[in-house]
Amino acid sequence: MALASGDLRPRRACGSIAAVGPLGRDLLGGDVMRAWIASLGMAALFAIGGTQAAPKPIAKDAKLWAAAQAARPGQLKLLQALVDIDSGTGDMEGGRKVAAVLIPRLKALGMSIEAVPAEAPGLPDNLVARLSGTGKGRILMIGHMDTVFGPGTVAKRPYRTDAEKAYGPGVDDEKGGVVEGLYALTLLHDAGFKDFKQITFLIETSEERGSPGTQKLIGRLLADADAELNLEPGDPPDVLTVWRKGSSTFHIDVKGLAAHAGVDPQDGRNAALELIHQIQADDVFPKSGDGLTANLTIMSAGTRNNIIPEDAHAQINVRVRERKQVDEVQAVLEKNAKVTQIPDTQVAISREPAYPPLPSNSATDALAARAQAIYAGLGLGLATGGNGGASESALAADAGVPALDGLGPVGGGFHSDKEYLELKSVTPRLYMLTRLIEDLGRNPPARMR
Ligand SMILES: [Zn+2]
Repeated sequence: MALASGDLRPRRACGSIAAVGPLGRDLLGGDVMRAWIASLGMAALFAIGGTQAAPKPIAKDAKLWAAAQAARPGQLKLLQALVDIDSGTGDMEGGRKVAAVLIPRLKALGMSIEAVPAEAPGLPDNLVARLSGTGKGRILMIGHMDTVFGPGTVAKRPYRTDAEKAYGPGVDDEKGGVVEGLYALTLLHDAGFKDFKQITFLIETSEERGSPGTQKLIGRLLADADAELNLEPGDPPDVLTVWRKGSSTFHIDVKGLAAHAGVDPQDGRNAALELIHQIQADDVFPKSGDGLTANLTIMSAGTRNNIIPEDAHAQINVRVRERKQVDEVQAVLEKNAKVTQIPDTQVAISREPAYPPLPSNSATDALAARAQAIYAGLGLGLATGGNGGASESALAADAGVPALDGLGPVGGGFHSDKEYLELKSVTPRLYMLTRLIEDLGRNPPARMR
C-alpha cells in the first residue's frame, strides 16, 4: 500500500519511540516516565503527521491491565479453536461451528443472542449479541467470522505460533478481532461495568463478499447506535484505521459467435480476443496507491480447445476514496464497450453493489484520539491511517454514526497464506478496546445525523 498523508509507517524513524514503549518497560521503569515518553512520541508522530495535537494520556488502569494480561492464554486458546474451523464465506457448516463456540461464551456474559438469517442465500445466520446497562452510550461492535479461504484450508495450514506471531486462515482477518471483542466484553463483565445503555455485538457471515447477507441488519443496528467499533485488524506497526476506500466490482461480459476452430474458424467471432481488447482499453487506472485503483482479478473464456469462444468474462475490482469515482470508472468502461475490435461482438458492463468509502472525518478522528489517549497511558504510540480494504465502518459513517476501525490485533498478509497476527499487540489492543467501550458508554459521541 502506498503512503497516505497521516500514514506514519515509513516514518518508523519514530518507531524507536514505540520500541521504547513496551520493550523499554524494564529499561526505563515508572509509568510517569512512560506516559511522558509516549506523549513525547505521540507529539513527534503528530508533528510529523501534521494532524491535531497529541491527546493527553489517560492514566493506566492497572487492575484492568492485569486482567487483560491474565486473559491472554484463554484468548489465544479460543483464537486457535476458531482459526481451526474452516469458515469461508458461504461455508454453512463452518458458520454453524463458529457460532456454536461463541454463543455459550456470549450467553455466559449475560448477553441475549439472536441468530438472524442472512439476507442472501447460501450464507450462515448472522449472530447478534446484546447487553443492556444503566448508562448512556449505545455501542455497536462489528466483527466477521467468514474468511476468504475455502474448505480444507485448515487441514493444510492449521493455527500455529512462533515467538512473535500467530498464523492460520483468518487468524487476524478477522478471528483475532472477534476474540478480542468477546474478551473485552468478558473483562467488562468481570469488572461489573454497567455504565452504558446497550452494547450490541454483531458477528456477521459475509463481510468478505461485501456483506450481501447483512446490509439491512447493519442498517437496523446502526439506527440504534451512538458509535460503531470495527474489529478489523490493525495495520503495522500499530495503526488505527480512520479512512477506508470503498469497493465495487465491474463485470465485463463479451458475446461472440462460436464456430469449429478447425473447419470454419472464420465464421466465429472470438469473444476472448475482444475481451482482451476491452481489458487493454480499460487499463487506464492506477493499480496501487491511496487513491482510486482498478485491478483485473478474474478472467474466463472458452469451453473447449476446438471451439472459437462465444463467451468471455472478466471482473475488475475497483477501490475508491469517493463514491463518484465508481461512476467515473463505469463511464470509461461503457465508452470502450461501444468500440469493439472483433466485428459482431457485444460487450456488456455491469457492477456489483459497492461498499461506500469511509472518508476521513472529524467524528472518526475524535474516536481515534480517545483510543490514542488510552494507549498513551500504557506508554505506547498509536498512529492513524487508512487502507484500501473495505469494511462495515463505511456503512456506519454513511448512516451518520461515528465509526472507528482497525481495532483488532495488529497483523498483515491478509487474504493470503502469509496472514499473521502480532502476539505483542494482543493485550494492549484488548485493554484499549475495553477502555474505549467504558469511555463511550459513559460519554457517547453525538451522531453525525
Ligand atoms: Zn476482514
